[in-house]
Amino acid sequence: MKTIQKMALGALFALGATQANAQAFPARPITMIVPFAAGGPTDVVARIVGDHMSRTLGQPVIIENVAGAGGTTGITRAAKATPDGYTIAMGHMGTHGASPGLYPNLAYDPQKDFEPIGLAAGTPILIVTRKDFPAKDLKEFSAYVKANENKINHADAGPGAVSNVTCILLHDMLKVNPVTVPYKGTGPLLNDLMSGKVDYACDQIVNLTPQIKAGTIKAIAVATEKRAPALPDVPTTTEGGLPGYKVSAWNAAFAPKGTPPEALAKLREALVKAVTDPGTKAKLEELGGEVPDAKGASPEALAALVKSENERWVPLLKAKGNK
Ligand code: ASP
Repeated sequence: MKTIQKMALGALFALGATQANAQAFPARPITMIVPFAAGGPTDVVARIVGDHMSRTLGQPVIIENVAGAGGTTGITRAAKATPDGYTIAMGHMGTHGASPGLYPNLAYDPQKDFEPIGLAAGTPILIVTRKDFPAKDLKEFSAYVKANENKINHADAGPGAVSNVTCILLHDMLKVNPVTVPYKGTGPLLNDLMSGKVDYACDQIVNLTPQIKAGTIKAIAVATEKRAPALPDVPTTTEGGLPGYKVSAWNAAFAPKGTPPEALAKLREALVKAVTDPGTKAKLEELGGEVPDAKGASPEALAALVKSENERWVPLLKAKGNK
């Protein structure tokens, strides 16, 4: 065969392969990075949603827990992954909303380095304690924390995690600065809260509902306007006398910037199908998750959410750091 013929044939093969790849996405399993330990809220949401997405995509969605630095280690890995649709991440209000306010040299820009896939769930924040913590409501909790600031152990999942930034807000309001025990996620934190090794935390509802119901931990208040339907007995922070403490988090899926539009379209479609599926929705709602409709799970809505959360958290946390 003449060289020119070989080249033409090669080009034809390359074209065919590219087209086949584009059409065939996904041709192999997809990795969803969870930037915290297994068993925590991000992991739980990722597994519920990922399970349904894998049915739509016809390929497994494999959860990879890459914990560290308040979730920024895993999200940095996702930002730098080959943008082919085969590596995505389950981020949250901390990794994509708040972290740039705490890490001056953060290796990713939440607004520029990702293609939003969509919101998986809103997750109200609760203040929770070990079950024998000597406070039955928010007033007693606040008084006890203030009086015992030097004795108690607050726990969180590291700087920039949801549990970290939401308790920064709380501590600011209570004017306390207790010792903080760091964890690789609020999954392992919850185990130590149940066994009484640590005293309290601010955490996402989806990690807490079963344990609150079982009485293995104590819920002090939910930081939303209204009580959570999954936990109707838990008073709001307004009822507890701290109406200024209102904070809710969320989990959402992101792909690295430059992921091909065909792959993104499939991932987005699979996410919307997952959250609007009655079974998936019920599982998330049972845990207290606020499940978006198709519009709420759109990439446009997620891009707007990330922007507004950056506007809320970054100046607030930077100002705190400069104090
Ligand atoms: N949501 C994290 C987790 O899944 C922890 C956090 O952000 O506080 O463990």
